[in-house]
Amino acid sequence: MERFYCFSKDKFLDFFKALESFGTVQAPVRVTDQSFAFRAVKEPKEIAFEALRTILPPKKFFYPGRETLVSWQGNEVKDHQPEIQKQVLFGVHPCDLAGLGIMDTIFSADPQDNHYLLRREATIVVGLSCMPDKHCFCKSMGTDTPDSSAYDIFLTDIGEEYFIEIKTPRAYSLFENDQLLLKPITEEHREKYKDFWLKRSEAFQIGFASDNLRATMDMEWDNPIWDELGNRCLSCGNCVPVCPTCYCFDVIDVASLHEDGGERIREWDACQFTGFAKVAGDFNFRPGPVDRLKFWYRHKLHGFEDPHGMPTCVGCGRCTVSCPSGIDDIVGTVLRLQAKVEEEPKKGPANDK
Ligand code: SF4
Ligand code: SF4
Repeated sequence: MERFYCFSKDKFLDFFKALESFGTVQAPVRVTDQSFAFRAVKEPKEIAFEALRTILPPKKFFYPGRETLVSWQGNEVKDHQPEIQKQVLFGVHPCDLAGLGIMDTIFSADPQDNHYLLRREATIVVGLSCMPDKHCFCKSMGTDTPDSSAYDIFLTDIGEEYFIEIKTPRAYSLFENDQLLLKPITEEHREKYKDFWLKRSEAFQIGFASDNLRATMDMEWDNPIWDELGNRCLSCGNCVPVCPTCYCFDVIDVASLHEDGGERIREWDACQFTGFAKVAGDFNFRPGPVDRLKFWYRHKLHGFEDPHGMPTCVGCGRCTVSCPSGIDDIVGTVLRLQAKVEEEPKKGPANDK
């Protein structure tokens, strides 16, 4: 089994049929002039190949916004087994693959989350190359090349053809009945592939140096920039569900009013909500939007590094485009904070002489 092949875009219908033989194909479709969403598609013409970021990231397929964990009737408690359907997630860009890799790390850590892992196992992920727009900064976060732990297949657009990497045996088996679809790659294909990734790397319009994010956040923790941003925050929580790596949830018991039974439900929560950090005794240890915004930035930029060796922001730009107050310009904020750090030594004793 070779790992790299190519196929003509004219043959995309055959490729699509091969994917469909595994399960329902979920792909980006256009929802409005400005927005896209992953939806089930029946034909390639429904796919918005031009989509960069969908409203919600792929996490919704593995970790739904609301689900039942257990139910009870009288004294009998039952684990809720989710209905798992085989599916193919098509068109996942490198930032979202990195997001999936991070979610895999979180949900497979002890104690494992079986609901997530069962859905993940039932899904073939097909990555797709993209060109960055003015909000993309995955290059700054080191997530601009596809995370190979997260996909089964990756397609790079090299013009008339796709350069295809097939990484898992189950993905390879989809094409066994159509030996004519995949062609061996030539030196020319390799050159086009390298050209694409070089051009993509040069196409980023925004970014920052990411090697000092922890120091920047620590040194600028009391910077007035946080008051300026936090005081504009509406605590609407938009920035959280759209983030491919935000995973906090609340657990609620819902008792039936008519029977001696009920359900324990898990649903997405958001650290930007006013009551997220409220504990017993009505004490809120992040009472204001400034506290919550700083916490969120820290968690995204370096808070995950100690346990897992990586930040959780993958540079997708979703929070930037979905914040109604124009706050979540992560690149702009980091550049402002880094500029302040640069200024600090000039105030120090050596410069005061
Ligand atoms: S913090 Fe914002 S830019 Fe970073 S991964 Fe989350 S939504 Fe994307
Ligand atoms: S989307 Fe913007 S306004 Fe809403 S909680 Fe996030 S930072 Fe605050």
